[in-house]
Amino acid sequence: MKNYQAYFIDLDGTMYRGTERVEGAAEFVQYLRKHQLPLLFLTNNSSRKQEQVAAKLMDMGIEAYPEDVFTTSMATASYIARHHANAKVFAVGEEGLVQALQDQGLELVDAGADYVVIGIDREISYEKLSKACLNVREGAALLSTNGDVAIPTERGMLPGNGAFTSVVSVSTGVEAVFIGKPHAEIMEQALAKMNLSKDEVLMIGDNYDTDILAGINAEMDTLMVETGVHRFEEISAYPKQPTYKVKTLQEWLS
Ligand SMILES: [Mg+2]
Repeated sequence: MKNYQAYFIDLDGTMYRGTERVEGAAEFVQYLRKHQLPLLFLTNNSSRKQEQVAAKLMDMGIEAYPEDVFTTSMATASYIARHHANAKVFAVGEEGLVQALQDQGLELVDAGADYVVIGIDREISYEKLSKACLNVREGAALLSTNGDVAIPTERGMLPGNGAFTSVVSVSTGVEAVFIGKPHAEIMEQALAKMNLSKDEVLMIGDNYDTDILAGINAEMDTLMVETGVHRFEEISAYPKQPTYKVKTLQEWLS
């Protein structure tokens, strides 16, 4: 198997499931640290800040620092700042998104926004969706941190950010631009952040529709693990296959 300069690693289903660590996750990260192989945790979860994600991993015994974490909120905020410095933004989302937008010097407003951003918000309300729609109807561009329509939780599959984004896009007739996996924006930013090219990095994840397609769309090699949402048999008929498939990251090391 090929050696890579760096590894992009998904979190949910790859490093942990809810509050439980995935088998092989800590050992895999430890292996990369020992061999001084750079890594970046890439997550479509827009709700948490880098520091919170790193702390959660550390609490589970996975060596992670804030600078190793790249969230779709960070990618979304960078996208806006690159296209329109000092833009006014109406955001639906939690603290990870708000922090990322503020870190880029963007102004958060209720009306007169240049951009509406939809990220997961566990306190979503009719009023928030109404403000999002009104801003879009008045000309704001519509961005979404990620299109995941359902997310796995201890209770089962719950509505994801793609479902809320669809409320705004269906109601206004305006399509959203998606930033997170499997879309190109987050991958291009992650590669630029590491100063590496697509053939130097391996994308690792459990979800074919987000992680693996993100890698395939970016023309990167991909490693699919069977510790999260998809089983290999579910994807066996798909024309585009991951470069590698291993049941667990432990297997990759052995
Ligand atoms: Mg995952």
